[in-house]
Amino acid sequence: MKDFQLVFDMQPFRESLRRLLLQPDELAVGEIRTRSTPEGEELIITGFRRATDPPQSDQLSPFHCYAVMAISSRRWATSNELASIISPRFRQTLVAIVVRPDRNDEMEVTVVTEGTLHPPSRLYLLGNRSIRIDAATPYNDGKISSKRQRLRQSRTNGALSDELAEQINQLSLVVVGAGSGGSELTRQLSSLHPGRLTVIDNDTVAIENLSNLPHTSVRDLDKSKVDVLVRAIHRNQPKLDLVGIRQRIQDIPTIEHLSTMPRVGAVFSFIDNPAARLAAGMVARKLFVPHLDVGSLIQLNDFNEREIRWDIRLFEPGAGSGCVACVPKLNDIDSVLYALRSPSNAMTLGPPTEWNVLRAGSLLSVNAMAASLAIQLWIRYLRGKVSGHWIRAQSVDDGLPTFSESPVVGETNCPICRVKA
Ligand SMILES: [Zn+2]
Repeated sequence: MKDFQLVFDMQPFRESLRRLLLQPDELAVGEIRTRSTPEGEELIITGFRRATDPPQSDQLSPFHCYAVMAISSRRWATSNELASIISPRFRQTLVAIVVRPDRNDEMEVTVVTEGTLHPPSRLYLLGNRSIRIDAATPYNDGKISSKRQRLRQSRTNGALSDELAEQINQLSLVVVGAGSGGSELTRQLSSLHPGRLTVIDNDTVAIENLSNLPHTSVRDLDKSKVDVLVRAIHRNQPKLDLVGIRQRIQDIPTIEHLSTMPRVGAVFSFIDNPAARLAAGMVARKLFVPHLDVGSLIQLNDFNEREIRWDIRLFEPGAGSGCVACVPKLNDIDSVLYALRSPSNAMTLGPPTEWNVLRAGSLLSVNAMAASLAIQLWIRYLRGKVSGHWIRAQSVDDGLPTFSESPVVGETNCPICRVKA
C-alpha cells in the first residue's frame, strides 16, 4: 500500500477554512505539488481557490493532482464520500478533505489514486507556529525516554517551554556550511536537541581555520570540516542523530539528493558563497520549508572605520515570499546563477563580488552572535510571532550594535521565488 504524507501551507489553508466555515456550501480546490521521499509520496498543498461545485474529473488532465476541501454536510459527511462523488480518473490523484463545522480543529482526509482510497500516514502543517506533526513517530523515538536524557534536557526545556522543546525534538534540520559560522550554528542548534541534524560542507580544515573552529586541533588539518564537527558534537551528545554530507550544496546531485529527504523542519545556511546560499534557498523551496540565511561581515568603510554587520533572514517557502536573490536584491545574479550551473572546477565569471573584496577577516565571536540571532529568530517563528523576517545588526567603529528588523517581501519579478512552487 502506498504511503502518502500531506503537507499544508498553513496560511492559505487557514484562510480557506475560515471562508468555508462562513460559506459552508462552497468548496475549496487546492493545487498540489508532489515530492518522492524514501518515506513515500509527499503531497504539498500550496494554495486553494474557491469553487461552487466539485471539479469535473474528466475535464482535468489525465495526471492531474488536486485537493478538494469541504465542510461536512448532507451531500458528503465524510472525506470518503466526497472522494467518491468527485470520482477522480485512474491516473489522477485527489486529496479529499472534510471538516466538521462543530469541530474545525479536526479534519478527515482521504487520498485517492489509481482507483484506491488511502488514509494519509502523516499530516504536516507548515508555517509559523506550526511544523506541527500529527500521527507521527518522532525521529528520536525511544532516545528521549530515559530519565537521564530528560534530566539532561531539563534546562533547555525550561527555557523553551516543554511544548516548544517537544516540537523541536521532532524536527529534522539541515545546516549548510561547517566553517566558522556554520559549525557555531550547528553547535548551538544541537543544544536544542532536534530530532535530526544534517550538516553539509565539502571543505577541509586549513591552518587559517583553526582559531575559528575551537572544536578542532592541528591533527584535523586537511580533514573534512563536516566529519570533524560531527565527531566533536557527538563527544558531547552521543545520542544526537547527526548526519554529515561532504558535498557542495550548489552541485546539482546534492540539490537533488537533498530534495528527496524525508520531511525537514528548516534549512539554515551560514556560508560566504552567494551561489551556495542560493542553492540552500532552492533546496528549502523544493522541500517546502523555511530557509534561514545567516551571515556576518567585517569590513572597512570609506572612513577607514571597522564596520560589522549581521544579517539574518527567514524566508517562507510559498511563491513570492522572498529569497536570498531578491531580499535584498543580489548584485549580479547572472554570475551567481552561472556559478550555480557550472561544475566545481569551472572558472568564475567576472570580477569577484563586492562582498569578498571588502572582507576584512572574520571573528568567531561575531559569527557566534549571528548564530544566536538566527536561533532566536527561528524560536520566534516557531512561537508564531513572526513569519518571513529580516534582522540586521550593525556596529560602526566598534560601537554597540544597532538593530533593525522588517518583514520580508519578495520582489515582483524575482526569477527564483516568483516561480510558482
Ligand atoms: Zn526572490
